[in-house]
Amino acid sequence: MKFRILTILFIVFTYNSCRNDIGISSKYITQRVVIVVVDGPRYQETWNYKNRSFISNRNELSKEGVLFTNFKNTGITLTNPGHTSIVTGVNQNINNAGAQLPDQPSIFQYYLKEKGLPNSACQIIASKDKLAVLSNCLNLTYKNKFMPEYNCGISGLNSGYREDKETFKVALQTLANKHPNLVLIQFKEPDASGHANDWRGYVNGIQKTDEYIGLIWKYLQEDSYYFGKTSLFVTNDHGRHDDNVSNGFVNHGDNCNGCRHIELLAIGPDFSKGKVISNSYNQTDLASTIGTILGFKSYYSQGKTIQELLK
Ligand SMILES: [Zn+2]
Ligand SMILES: [Zn+2]
Repeated sequence: MKFRILTILFIVFTYNSCRNDIGISSKYITQRVVIVVVDGPRYQETWNYKNRSFISNRNELSKEGVLFTNFKNTGITLTNPGHTSIVTGVNQNINNAGAQLPDQPSIFQYYLKEKGLPNSACQIIASKDKLAVLSNCLNLTYKNKFMPEYNCGISGLNSGYREDKETFKVALQTLANKHPNLVLIQFKEPDASGHANDWRGYVNGIQKTDEYIGLIWKYLQEDSYYFGKTSLFVTNDHGRHDDNVSNGFVNHGDNCNGCRHIELLAIGPDFSKGKVISNSYNQTDLASTIGTILGFKSYYSQGKTIQELLK
């Protein structure tokens, strides 16, 4: 009897001490990370455009953070492969229609496993339904376990894309109501208008998503759960063809510089302010870097921690 009580006490004690470890394993101030993926703009219309006039909010925010001028998709320049590289750190030739799970776990699964937090601590909120596959993987240690919550497309996988303004609304509601610690928010523009050969819609999509990013950052400053301890990463899954390649801005998917060269802006308490990094990095480095900041290891990531980003 005595032994049983001791055993139970031991279990309760070790359980609690594990829970208390949450958040103290990292030497960084950042405790929450929000990644915003703007789907498929070309660098020449974002940071390289005259006066950066299509991304005025991001340009303003860059004074408070670090801008990468040589950030690349080094895998396959399509939506699901690009996102898979960002969240798993692995460049994988994954099906682009949402018919295949990533081979390896994502930062969400690593984080939930390491920290023992409820699924709601990680959120994937996307305009494209096919990105629901980012919530799981085939690796047997992780498959169907430690899964982030997700809210993708009209109503999940195979339900179709929804409007970005809806995704923006869901994102703010989720931040306010669930207070997740690790979040990916994806907007389908300007990719959707690009494919429709709609130049005005494409430019408008860049401007509109930039507006959402400004408002997301504003929200993160106003909610005490996020203020002062949140890092924001703004990036793309892929770019689009250079003007002299195939049908130019209308499509993407090959090795041209327009498809590969993407943006990365990082703002947070552990980063410098107003710094520009011109060394070459790629999407897989994000999975490793975010792991380092939040205090977990992205075991299968092919990338590396971007040391010069960290103060
Ligand atoms: Zn596309
Ligand atoms: Zn291309």
